[in-house]
Amino acid sequence: MAKLRVLPASVAVPAPLTSSVDDSQLLPRRLYLETFGCQMNTHDSQRMVALMAAEGYALTDQPDEADLIVLNSCSVREKAEQKLRSKAGEMKHIKRQRPEVVLAIGGCVAQQEGERMLKRIPQADIVFGPDHLSRLPDLVREVQTKQIRLEETEFLDRRSYRFPVAPAHAPAPISAYVSVMKGCDKFCSFCIVPYTRGREVSRPAAEILDEVHCLADQGTKEVILLGQTVNAYGKHRIPGQVPFHELLYKVAEVPGIERLRFTSPHPSEFSLEQIEAFREIPELCPHMHLPAQSGSSSVLQAMRRGYTREEYLEVVATLRRIAPQVALTTDLIVGFPGETEQEFQETMTLLEEVRFIGAYSFAYSERVGTRALKIEPSVPVEERMRRLHVLQRRQDEITEEVLQKAVGERQVVMIEGRSKTDASRSSGRNGENRSVHVEGHYGPGTFLDVKIVEGYRHSLLGCAL
Ligand code: SF4
Repeated sequence: MAKLRVLPASVAVPAPLTSSVDDSQLLPRRLYLETFGCQMNTHDSQRMVALMAAEGYALTDQPDEADLIVLNSCSVREKAEQKLRSKAGEMKHIKRQRPEVVLAIGGCVAQQEGERMLKRIPQADIVFGPDHLSRLPDLVREVQTKQIRLEETEFLDRRSYRFPVAPAHAPAPISAYVSVMKGCDKFCSFCIVPYTRGREVSRPAAEILDEVHCLADQGTKEVILLGQTVNAYGKHRIPGQVPFHELLYKVAEVPGIERLRFTSPHPSEFSLEQIEAFREIPELCPHMHLPAQSGSSSVLQAMRRGYTREEYLEVVATLRRIAPQVALTTDLIVGFPGETEQEFQETMTLLEEVRFIGAYSFAYSERVGTRALKIEPSVPVEERMRRLHVLQRRQDEITEEVLQKAVGERQVVMIEGRSKTDASRSSGRNGENRSVHVEGHYGPGTFLDVKIVEGYRHSLLGCAL
């Protein structure tokens, strides 16, 4: 059973609702939703928008005119957590002027802090963790009708967890994320995710395929399978699940789906069948985001990543042998506690050895509740920033070199819309997930054969053939 904590009426914020008003009038109709942090949160937010749309809520970008405000918090990076606190503070004046507005705080910080957050942010009506996302409409209704404040943060167990399914009338994007699992069993020493999103739970394959069919029927052309350690999908072998590589084949067979991607895999969860899928499935795009985090085996051990530098490179080598067309991007952390200059240099040599086409890199930041906090000695913040700067400068050079090499190539680009920087151009992505701009206007979802004519620092310019 989920924990449902009802605080006494003395701390309740919403104004009383009179019984003379009918149900439809009780429901607010404008939703302001702000997402902090990661891709997973963005996806969760899309679900919440769809869920609330089914209840009659239309999105607004003005919190002042909203009837329901949802802040979807993230605790992976410190900045996102700070932004949440300052945004929640800004909501005070709205609640003061219109106490009937419901303020709900979801996501990982909400999960971590639970009841404490409800006490510390008196203007919040609901604090709910990611496991309870699908209950948002019920929670809002409960707050409105019972004048209570709610906290719902207990993890649901593997067998009782239900993935929130997007309602059929949600607008289907050309490129859609489809959640295949939630949580993580890895417990890396720097990461808070297993404590905020709970243990791994894989979704029944039939449910995933239903969602993909539904999206394809509405015009979605590209599906990105999403999970914290996505290639660990199905490993608990609960009835209804299949091994991850089988899921890839099944999704690729759905009529209308022309591109398939997945993010983010864990290096230690790769099987040969998963790698062979890149050779065998034409819809599977030639790009993989493969988080390394460090190029040093000793740092990887302190991070509790579950693989060595050599094992990571073995995955890369197998991939390049079986499917050499696959481009790699990665995540890297520098300045992890105890990281020496020599160990940092091992991360630098990983860049040279793998030649990622891009990297998301971060200076280590302390996260409350993680094991890494106890590791000594910490690297001074200035030194972390210096290492980050050195790493990013080199990765930028490599990215530029890779992009320059693409000039003259023929590529297929899936158009996503107008370019944000040049109104005369359209923008889309190539198979490697690289942004490509094309002269002229083409509708979203158009597949264009282009010749690459210029390489920029982070994108390409193509000419339609
Ligand atoms: S694999 Fe590690 S870094 Fe990724 S979500 Fe799990 S604990 Fe966090």
